[in-house]
Amino acid sequence: MLDFRSDTVTKPSEAMREAARDADVGDDVYRGDPTVNELEARAAEVVGTEAALYVPSGTMGNQIAIRTHTERGDELLCETDSHIYKWELGGIAQHSGVQARTIDGGDRGALAPEQVHDGYVARDGHRPGTSLLCVENTHNSKGGIAIPVDDIAAAAEAARDHDVSVHLDGARLFNAAAALDVPASEIVAPVDTVMFCLSKGLGAPVGSILAGPESFIEEARRVRKLFGGGMRQAGMIAAPGLLALENRTRLQEDHANAQLLADGLRDIEGLGVSDPDTNIVLVDTDGPAETFLDALEAEGVLASRFGPEQVRFCTHWDVDGSDVETAIDAASSL
Ligand SMILES: *Cc1c(COP(=O)(O)O)cnc(C)c1O
Repeated sequence: MLDFRSDTVTKPSEAMREAARDADVGDDVYRGDPTVNELEARAAEVVGTEAALYVPSGTMGNQIAIRTHTERGDELLCETDSHIYKWELGGIAQHSGVQARTIDGGDRGALAPEQVHDGYVARDGHRPGTSLLCVENTHNSKGGIAIPVDDIAAAAEAARDHDVSVHLDGARLFNAAAALDVPASEIVAPVDTVMFCLSKGLGAPVGSILAGPESFIEEARRVRKLFGGGMRQAGMIAAPGLLALENRTRLQEDHANAQLLADGLRDIEGLGVSDPDTNIVLVDTDGPAETFLDALEAEGVLASRFGPEQVRFCTHWDVDGSDVETAIDAASSL
């Protein structure tokens, strides 16, 4: 079975399995796990922040960030189709007691500075007050769109005009960096904090990173414990994470494979295919997504439902160019 459902389906390499077995470990809740400490230091270095925190998942990293940046009763601004708002079980309200005001970022999910100004509400006797802006890069729901650094910086500056902090959901930060051909630290520079996943295109079995200023990460560490994310001998899973962090340039291959896939699927009658920025290809199916997915699965290829008539293909290190050709052939035969 060829699995294009997500870049989270990758299995750890032999080197990662060996690294896990041989990891130097301790109790990370006591800050005593040298492998986790090394991962956090290396992650902060790569994204250019003072500090970083290892967390079990991207969702937890985002939710810890929201909780740490806000007070109960605040409002935050985010894009209408953002992961934080749409795919995290209403965690903004559940974990932080915060209300979300959504902004439509159009086809590419980028927020204009004017939209941030318009969305901001000052705290007064009637209104909650905006304390956080959340942005996403690459934008998952829009099809892995890589939002240019200047656009993120402009939205962040608008937020800063109102003393509003900015968190970047960079689950696929390094896909954005590869597509924009800039170091990840350049994308992160205009924002206060960033979350990125080790367990997606980078190929680690588990884990994400929340990075930002030292004082923020210190408080985020308390919130991680509160949310049940304090882990003990976590070096076992952080060791593959350290290897994953060095897989950043490999993402270009995923992007080339996504392009190959899009070009092949586009030639098939009835399919409407996005031009991928990164490793995600959205396909309009001209009929129920389920019908297309079931037929494709019968041919040995998996993709995921993204809308009533839309499916998503994701490329990753467990599918290569010839797998892409096989998938195109399978879709052609339906
Ligand atoms: C995958 C993803 C997350 C959450 O990561 P998990 O590790 O699956 O919890 C957050 N934001 C975006 C944009 C994602 O694509």
